Amino acid sequence: MIQRLADRIWLVEGGKGGRYPYAHSLYVKDGGGVLIDCGSDLQDILRLKKEEGLAAVVMTHYHEDHFLFLHMLPDVDVWSSEADASALESFETLLDRYGVAGSEWEYFFRTLLAEKFSFAARRVARRIADGERLHFGRTEAVAVVAPGHTPGHLCLHFPSEGILFLGDYDLTAFGPWYGDKPGSIETFRRSARLLAEIGAPVNVVSHEEAVHRGDIGPKIAAYLSCIDRREDALRDFLRRPRSRQEIIARRILYGEGHAGPWFDYGEWALLSKHLEGMLARGDAARQGDRYAARA
Ligand SMILES: [Zn+2]
Repeated sequence: MIQRLADRIWLVEGGKGGRYPYAHSLYVKDGGGVLIDCGSDLQDILRLKKEEGLAAVVMTHYHEDHFLFLHMLPDVDVWSSEADASALESFETLLDRYGVAGSEWEYFFRTLLAEKFSFAARRVARRIADGERLHFGRTEAVAVVAPGHTPGHLCLHFPSEGILFLGDYDLTAFGPWYGDKPGSIETFRRSARLLAEIGAPVNVVSHEEAVHRGDIGPKIAAYLSCIDRREDALRDFLRRPRSRQEIIARRILYGEGHAGPWFDYGEWALLSKHLEGMLARGDAARQGDRYAARA
């Protein structure tokens, strides 16, 4: 479904209400047609390409739910931030960014990304820097590189229309993702706060409820508070020494009933970031192959 947010900026709603494996897109009906991310709805995307034109796809970052339909657009230019370009250009770099290269999850992710998500390496035609002004015909967007989710996560601000696309700073109840190998809790927090400070009247995110109008400061604060709740739950679980396998199996983040490698990976990717911080601060200690919170 397509919703007009402004004359030349349209929301392409993702399948399943924008839940994984889908993500909302924006379409700029200017400059030959520009799509921001392409994991929303294949029929809508192909129809827009045919009826309105499509000159470029701007990728907010390299995650699979955002490149889902990119393989269906082999003749369209791909743009991304400088820092995320190499993961779109190389499958090995992509796997390394997920942190799965050499892990027990490597085979699962190789298969998932290559087969279910049809990853095809693409040359990035234009590398975008933070603060750069992009001109799509008469429509201007300012690039806001917001690291933490991925190193080069690209948000786009359309000042004249008062629209900010925040991508995976997505304000969902699940909370933030900072589990990629270069991901960082503190960098994520800083980026999320900066995005709220832009103060755009219309804020669009990649998942679930797409459009958030007005001041998103309180929503960003609530979203970031998930980070503290995760750490509290981990600290509580580590009152007794626990192994990596025990931490993964506890399903602190996803809850019971979520079996399989995708969730195993997600639990460890996020919780290991907390564990690293707790170890560095002396809030937790290693005891052989187990971790324990300091009493
Ligand atoms: Zn993402």
